[in-house]
Amino acid sequence: MFYYAEPIALLIEELAKLPGVGPKTAQRLAFFLLHVPRNEAVALARAIVDAHDKIRFCSICANLTDADPCRVCGDSRRDRRVICVVAEPRDVVAVEKIREFHGLYHVLHGVLSPLEGIGPGELRIKELLARLGDPQLQEVIIATSPTVEGEATAAHLARLIKPLGVKVTRIAHGLPVGADLEYADQVTLLRALEGRREI
Ligand SMILES: [Zn+2]
Repeated sequence: MFYYAEPIALLIEELAKLPGVGPKTAQRLAFFLLHVPRNEAVALARAIVDAHDKIRFCSICANLTDADPCRVCGDSRRDRRVICVVAEPRDVVAVEKIREFHGLYHVLHGVLSPLEGIGPGELRIKELLARLGDPQLQEVIIATSPTVEGEATAAHLARLIKPLGVKVTRIAHGLPVGADLEYADQVTLLRALEGRREI
C-alpha cells in the first residue's frame, strides 16, 4: 500500500472533511494546492483563519457578520415594520439579491427536524420572540423552504407569534419558472394556487 508523506496525508484528511468532498476529490485538491505558488496557498489559509476570527453572530438578527449590529440591522433606511425569518445566512443573501425586500431579517440557523434532534431550543427562536416587542414591527414573513421541516418550522413559529398580535405571513411557493404544470407535485401545485394574485 502506498503512503503519502505525512503533511500531504494530513492535508487530504482535512480537505475530506469538507461537505461534498470525498477522498478522491480531497486527494485532487491536495495536489492542486501543492502546485499553486506559496503566496496563493498562504492567502487561502489566511482567508479561512481570518473568516473564523472576524465573523460572529449579529446580536439582533443572528446573521453572520464582522460588525455588530450587522450591516442590515444597523442601516436606518431599512423598513423596521417587517422581519423576514430565514433558516440560514445564505438565505439572507438570496433574498437580498432580489433587491425587493427592504425590511429586516432573522436567521434561525436551521429548521425543526426531530429526526436530526433539532428542536426549538437549537434554533434562534427565543431571540426572534425577543424582537417582537418592538412597537414599529407589524409583520413577520416566514421564508423557510417548502420542505416538511420548513413547513413544520413555519407552523411552530406562527403558533408562537400570532398570539402576540403580530401579523405572520408565509412566502408563497409556486412552480419553478419553466416547469410543466403536469409534472409539479401536489404540494407545489397547492402552494401555487394558494399564492395566486390578481393579474
Ligand atoms: Zn443583524
